Amino acid sequence: MINKAIVWFRNDLRLHDNEALTEALRMADVVIPVFVFDDRIFDSKTSYGFGKTGIHRSNFIIECIQDLSKSLENIGSTMIIRRGITEDLLFELASEINASWVFCNRERTQEEVNVQDALEKKLWTKGIEMRYSRGKMLYYTSDLPFPITHTPDTFTSFRKEVEKYVPIRKSLPSPTKLPPVDPVIERGNIPCLIPIDINKTNDARVFKGGECAALEQLNYYLWETDNIKTYKKTRNEMLGWDFSSKMSPYLSQGCISPKKLHDEVKKYEEQRIKNDSTYWLIFELLWRDYFRLVGKKYGNKIFLANGINEDNQHNWSTDRSLFNIWAQARTGVPMIDANMRELNETGFMSNRGRQNVASFLVNDMKVHWLMGAEYFESMLIDYDPCSNYGNWNYIAGVGVDPRPDRWFNVVHQGKKYDSKGAYVHYWLPELETVPGFKVHAVANMSQDELSEYNLILGKDYPKAIVVDKRWA
Ligand SMILES: Cc1cc2nc3c(=O)[nH]c(=O)nc-3n(C[C@H](O)[C@H](O)[C@H](O)COP(=O)(O)OP(=O)(O)OC[C@H]3O[C@@H](n4cnc5c(N)ncnc54)[C@H](O)[C@@H]3O)c2cc1C
Repeated sequence: MINKAIVWFRNDLRLHDNEALTEALRMADVVIPVFVFDDRIFDSKTSYGFGKTGIHRSNFIIECIQDLSKSLENIGSTMIIRRGITEDLLFELASEINASWVFCNRERTQEEVNVQDALEKKLWTKGIEMRYSRGKMLYYTSDLPFPITHTPDTFTSFRKEVEKYVPIRKSLPSPTKLPPVDPVIERGNIPCLIPIDINKTNDARVFKGGECAALEQLNYYLWETDNIKTYKKTRNEMLGWDFSSKMSPYLSQGCISPKKLHDEVKKYEEQRIKNDSTYWLIFELLWRDYFRLVGKKYGNKIFLANGINEDNQHNWSTDRSLFNIWAQARTGVPMIDANMRELNETGFMSNRGRQNVASFLVNDMKVHWLMGAEYFESMLIDYDPCSNYGNWNYIAGVGVDPRPDRWFNVVHQGKKYDSKGAYVHYWLPELETVPGFKVHAVANMSQDELSEYNLILGKDYPKAIVVDKRWA
């Protein structure tokens, strides 16, 4: 008897280090790769009414699927595409081809779990088995020195334990050959890219989706430019392509596995240089694992207003017009508006930028963190449920390691991390007459100073929505 399997690609859009695909190839004679553009992901809204998957991420995912389809073709297979409700379509296909198994990498956040559970239940009615693999994290939970329920509530304790006791396993190789897909199975079409007007293309380079682009970017950041060897110094910058690895969209969609990234950094350390910067890139990657474990430990609480602690009490505003001022980059605070403009135009923002805009929304504007988190969910190319909500929880003080006031002085931060004002000038050309770091302080300027720079607040640039004494 010929054993047939479906490999359901989800946030693991790659051939290398893909445990579900590897396992399917080990067990089945026929392997059918499938991706579903699920209406609930692409066409629905978040609770505050933002499109769940904005244009930038939609296009990025479409490119990832185009790339994966090509790679599958190169090794003898064909990607099957469907559009609609995942559990219905996969059940239909699995029944039609008489599959024995559906393989996938397991997700752990509620919406994703709902889909995989619904599919599994349907498959049971036909005696088809769902086989789960893992593939999101650097560490295997089975290797951890603590059960998930005892994941430390501070990052530092987590990091110290895993660094000391847990080896990171090697990534798996890509398959070199796949069995052909029966031509009678309807192929389906990849949706077309949505046209976007991109005004800024030089420094704010646009991300190209797919495993090939991910591996190229990794090669660029390590081997071509050696940028990694100064990562610890540059990682807090905001302008340009080279200051950080730009791996997050690829990790989020699974175009690259964290183990592959780790393997490559280790190779770089052996062949070129091992220093605090090469260590720090892996250190940052640990944050990603940490937030995933926190998500597993606390479940849906990370998505709730009070976060992981029900005793939290806050009085945040949900005023839509106030929120829109932030989202549409009209706060009158250059550090915030420049970052929000970048997010809106490209789907990306630096880590420094994200911390500042999140703190500003929650701590200065007193707007509900969930509105910000949902807006990020909609807009970010690299959106990942645990990393996004985990970071927002953290800044709003409702997550792990809570502190009453994770307030950022956004003007000081601007002067420090954009000391020549280049980032603000790039995204807010209306402020180009204000030189250097002074551009961060327009909200605190006297009328004389503003006149000197030919700037009329409220006309050329908005008056600040809030001003804090501590900015001076
Ligand atoms: C409010 C807020 C929301 C965020 N939302 C997301 C999100 O949805 N998806 C996402 O991938 N990252 C998120 N981050 C984390 C971080 O900002 C991005 O991972 C980083 O800016 C991506 O750029 P990079 O790949 O060049 O990062 P690098 O500095 O090169 O870091 C390497 C990798 O480490 C991981 N990493 C670094 N910092 C963090 C962090 N704080 N939390 C989790 N992982 C981290 C990422 O996978 C990143 O690709 C968020 C941060 C904040 C403050």
